[in-house]
Amino acid sequence: MRRLLCIALFSLCLARLGMAQESPAAPDATAAARVVVVRARVLIDGTSAQPKANQEILIQGDRIIAVYAAGTRPPPVGAKVLELGNATVLPGLIDCHTHIFLQGEVPAAGGYDIQLLKFPASYRVARAGVAARRALEQGFTTIRDVETEAAGYGDVGIKQAIHEGYIPGPRMFVATRSISTTGGYPLEGYAPEIVVPKGAQLIDGPVEARKAAREQLDNGADWIKVYMTHRSWVDEQGALVSQPTLTVEELKAIVDETHGWRKKVACHAYNGIGLQRALDGGCDSIEHGLELTDAQIAQMVKQGTWLVPTLAVYYHDPDPPGTPGGIRDRKRVAVHGVSFQKALRAGVKIAFGTDVGGFPWSEPIAQEFPRMIEFGMTPMQAIQAATSRAAELLGKRGELGAIAPGAYADLIAVAGDPLADVGELKNVAFVMKEGSVFRSTLPSAGN
Ligand SMILES: [Zn+2]
Repeated sequence: MRRLLCIALFSLCLARLGMAQESPAAPDATAAARVVVVRARVLIDGTSAQPKANQEILIQGDRIIAVYAAGTRPPPVGAKVLELGNATVLPGLIDCHTHIFLQGEVPAAGGYDIQLLKFPASYRVARAGVAARRALEQGFTTIRDVETEAAGYGDVGIKQAIHEGYIPGPRMFVATRSISTTGGYPLEGYAPEIVVPKGAQLIDGPVEARKAAREQLDNGADWIKVYMTHRSWVDEQGALVSQPTLTVEELKAIVDETHGWRKKVACHAYNGIGLQRALDGGCDSIEHGLELTDAQIAQMVKQGTWLVPTLAVYYHDPDPPGTPGGIRDRKRVAVHGVSFQKALRAGVKIAFGTDVGGFPWSEPIAQEFPRMIEFGMTPMQAIQAATSRAAELLGKRGELGAIAPGAYADLIAVAGDPLADVGELKNVAFVMKEGSVFRSTLPSAGN
């Protein structure tokens, strides 16, 4: 955006000097003027209830200019035509819950702790760059990355490097360090005498809470992420319990500050007291929401609170059956699906999120789609959760997650029909971000 502004100002200066006609077009100006027509045999536009057949998408620079029935307009002179054959074209996907600075929490590979204790910062940054590229390769053209796990403001730099074109990756909304309380986040379990890094910025009291939010916002946070619950276990009655962290007063200080900056607060919350405080404190999105009561669902509908469920991640690496961790892991999965179904039926706003990074980036991000369908969404609802609905959560309705005039030209294509088999979204064959083709394995997608 800033670059466009510079070009615009530069052009204005040239025009004033009467030089505009003679000066050669700058490379950026050429990109801005580039016209592409994408032919889609089947188009899922991110907002319509049904797919459309035989459409053409007219793109200029980084934006979509028009969408119309194929053959009803001649391509503009000089336009490049991309013929995508029988593929289904969709908006670039959006994952609202990622961690590019986490590389899975596989116990055999050292789990979470090794990443904070033994990985050099430069190594973590390098792998975050690979993770970002992995997201884009899989058709995720936008992510909301919800904290760096002791990698400070590393996400701000990765976002900048992507934005300036130095490395490939999705458009990023970043949460930087995140906030929890003393006793509310790892690393933990070490001798009290040893100072270990913490994966989140820990605060106690509303003053510290507000200060942490201010620091993070000042250093580039697009969102503030708060941990409203921490440890979880199954109690004597067989119920899932999660330890609450921030008080309502602490959370309210963060929400008030963040909303003042016209930004939003994402709250990790499993269930119980912590989840209730998240709602009472005014969180904009509940992350995970493993076990929502009917009253909490009603409160979410009333307040317009989003749910970013991250279903699939809880099926990864459960502890052995019969162990406390194993009992907890199976209970989480059991309550989560039911909770999702109830929220869906009640009309809670649901956006797609995976917690990738919590599981390795080598795995398909799109594994979340079949879980959403297993628990009651139609394939179209699941796709919209990862496109237009996610865009709405990000405050970018109409600009992201839609194939419509005015939206960014973020397009993907899959060879088959994702409405018949949502697993098709694990094999994205064509990715365009802001009008530039990042990858294509479609034989007919050449020039
Ligand atoms: Zn997460």
